Amino acid sequence: MSTATEQRTFDSLNPATGSVVGTHPVHDAAAVRAAVAAAGPAAEWWAGLGWAERRRRLLDYKAVIARDIARIVTMVHEETGKPKADATLEVILTITHLDWAARNARKVLGPRRVSPGPTGLNIAATLEYLPLGVVGVIGPWNYPVFTPMGSIAYALAAGNAVVFKPSELTPGTGVLLAELFAESVPEHPVFRTVTGLGETGAALAGDPGVKKIAFTGSTATAKRVMAACAQNLTPMVAECGGKDALIVDADADLAAAADAALWGAMSNAGQTCVGVERVYVVDAVYDDFMRELTGRAEKVRAGEEYGPITMPGQIDVIRRHIDAAVANGKAVLGGPESVRPPYVDPVIVEDVPEDSPAVREETFGPTVTVKRVADAEEALERANASAYGLAGTIFSGDRRRAMDLARRMRTGMTAINSVISFASIPALPFGGLGDSGFGRIHGADGLREFSRPKGVSRQRFALPGMNLTSFSRGQAELDRLVRLVSFLHGRRKQ
Ligand code: NDP
Repeated sequence: MSTATEQRTFDSLNPATGSVVGTHPVHDAAAVRAAVAAAGPAAEWWAGLGWAERRRRLLDYKAVIARDIARIVTMVHEETGKPKADATLEVILTITHLDWAARNARKVLGPRRVSPGPTGLNIAATLEYLPLGVVGVIGPWNYPVFTPMGSIAYALAAGNAVVFKPSELTPGTGVLLAELFAESVPEHPVFRTVTGLGETGAALAGDPGVKKIAFTGSTATAKRVMAACAQNLTPMVAECGGKDALIVDADADLAAAADAALWGAMSNAGQTCVGVERVYVVDAVYDDFMRELTGRAEKVRAGEEYGPITMPGQIDVIRRHIDAAVANGKAVLGGPESVRPPYVDPVIVEDVPEDSPAVREETFGPTVTVKRVADAEEALERANASAYGLAGTIFSGDRRRAMDLARRMRTGMTAINSVISFASIPALPFGGLGDSGFGRIHGADGLREFSRPKGVSRQRFALPGMNLTSFSRGQAELDRLVRLVSFLHGRRKQ
């Protein structure tokens, strides 16, 4: 970081080459306060535009992104080191979510009449979901477009303004996303980006003008952000990564399962919150599965199929996990020598004790542990024995059995016979439980996450002899109500 004459700045670096991609200001607490203050009136203006105009603007933003895809892809490629093809897929996925959020916001959140029930015959009951105001988004570096936009697109569609603090590793991507938005919404700073390090994020989380924080990152930082939010009772969504398991049942398509396990574990250098970190394979097919997996994995190389480790400090975590796994388990492919910063080649280790950091902690690297289990029940038990609970995968030839296992998997999402497919379905909510956090982005739940329910009960006419909320109420009115309630609710069902 450099200390310029007036404003501190920091550089974002290309993790593959170490060259400077861009220099950005460190926005301090005063700058964050100013951004949030400006976003307040912008939020009111944006909310006042109404559903149809907001939808039009968001679909226009989507078109701007689609037209400028190459520019965004280049920025993501340079800041994260991931291959351009992966960055392209990430942006395309984002476009489908933005489209869904824009098109479905009114249907999910708009005013609707709800039944007043038999005791409210004279009441018209209306429910609608109103925007919160200014939403603060604190984003990660691993999918610097898709992940924060999972909050930003849904928050904007719900009628909020957004102040976005991207990771210090990917500030250029964050700045670009807001710049492109201003092409569709030039009038007010409805979506703006503040850049900086952890303190900038902390200032955003602690700003009383922010009405909700959407955070993606580590569990430890989520706790710090939550503590900052507590000062103002600011609610938050926390998406904190995981230790996702893939289960291979005896009747699974083993070639497909191995292909998915490999891609789920190694793509994006394993820096995926819903990446596959543990595999549990039923004994009957274990050896065949391992043959399929290693045969494919031998052809995958860091620097070709996937990029470098984006965050330099993560190399130490990955190395520690590999060392411990290999010391107590059996390396099937790669090992400590696979770590050649900034790259890590694929590492597969079997028979790793379940209390090893490689099985318990998020590795966030291109490594996977594989364990032989007696049956799918044992696989599920081990999959669920994690402090995390984000997502998981099941490969099975039996649809009913797979659905049953999926329901009992202690995670927010489960993919069957595919990997990470839930993230590409905008209608499905995304989020975890336990150390993986709470709250949901994507889908109708993601839209509601960035709004507040508002209920209105309008009396259409007075019910003669039934004015119960009045000191003029008499015993006769109460008796009538008791008779009505015992008629409606007093019969026991067999
Ligand atoms: P962090 O949790 O430290 O950072 C995530 C975001 O929070 C970044 O924008 C970061 O800013 C910001 N931040 C950091 N400190 C504070 C604070 N006190 N208040 C508010 N915001 C803050 O994650 P890292 O990037 O350091 O990665 C560490 C680990 O987190 C990874 O190894 C991985 O296990 C996990 N992770 C999980 C992700 C997921 O998808 N769930 C994504 C990224 C990481 P800045 O970058 O400027 O410090």
